[in-house]
Amino acid sequence: MLPFSLVYHDGFYLPFGSAHVFPGMKYRLIQQRLLETRVAAGSDFVRAQTIALEDVLRVHERGYIERLIDGTLSEEEILQMELPYSKEIVEATLLGCGGTLEAARLALRDGAACAIGGGFHHAHRDHGEGFCILHDVAIALARLLDDRAIERAMVIDLDVHDGNGTAAIFPPAGEHRRGSVRYGVASGPMMPSAEGVFTLSMHQQNNYPAYKPPSSLDVPLADGTDDAEYLEALEGALEAAFAHFRPQLIAYVAGADPYVEDKLGGLALTIDGLKQRDRTVFRAAQSAGAPVFSVYAGGYASQVEDTVTIHTNTVVAAAEVFSFHGATSC
Ligand SMILES: [Zn+2]
Repeated sequence: MLPFSLVYHDGFYLPFGSAHVFPGMKYRLIQQRLLETRVAAGSDFVRAQTIALEDVLRVHERGYIERLIDGTLSEEEILQMELPYSKEIVEATLLGCGGTLEAARLALRDGAACAIGGGFHHAHRDHGEGFCILHDVAIALARLLDDRAIERAMVIDLDVHDGNGTAAIFPPAGEHRRGSVRYGVASGPMMPSAEGVFTLSMHQQNNYPAYKPPSSLDVPLADGTDDAEYLEALEGALEAAFAHFRPQLIAYVAGADPYVEDKLGGLALTIDGLKQRDRTVFRAAQSAGAPVFSVYAGGYASQVEDTVTIHTNTVVAAAEVFSFHGATSC
């Protein structure tokens, strides 16, 4: 049995169609793999519930949400999402957002939690883009901040793509002020947002999205960055972030797409390197005494099994870190 919960629902399945690059069935495959390999038992899973509209509207513009739910989005809005709009996709995303909020709450209770879904980090307040229609992490953090369950949160986004939605929703306080780290050298003010959210995005610079709004700390990586270079940059970034900010909750966006064989990524991490990345994040959270929850975001490996392995390993890494030393609790 794991020392933390996994939040899942079969309804996380995103019916994008088999021609779409995003493997919408990956969540089911990860859940199956976790059970088959006995990383997790059935009792480790908590069933996600659909997010309340009130929680969605704390982050997203009402007009956009009405068009999304009514099916009255413009053609341009649908094109920007880069997915085949359907009410089923909206329902799956609402369920995914509920799962992320549940994982955040369980992390506050238990010290750690993993959502077997979520990570829709390209969604903006008033539009969807890059396969993301609602920003689950922002919705969860906004709710917990509003409830005063927390006052300071950190988003550590290690998807290969910049966390543009997160940065746009939680812009660093002060106009266009951001820090940056390149291979361990940090600079800049590293300001959290007015709401108390510190955003860290480590991503491939020459990749989607073209415009990358400033995060509290951006770590742009060169094409072809390998395990050693990546892990060195990550250590430097985490050290700089925690030196500037003490979060009460960490959202870890554990994209599988920095993988060398990813169809939409241009970095060169191995499966082992990605697992080391996950351990590094969980250990940093543990050292900082901050509860942490993970969400999945992207993963477009040539072989879908590799994406499933990378995502499954995030749970394995959390189990390794928190089983030996115990989960922290706030
Ligand atoms: Zn991505």
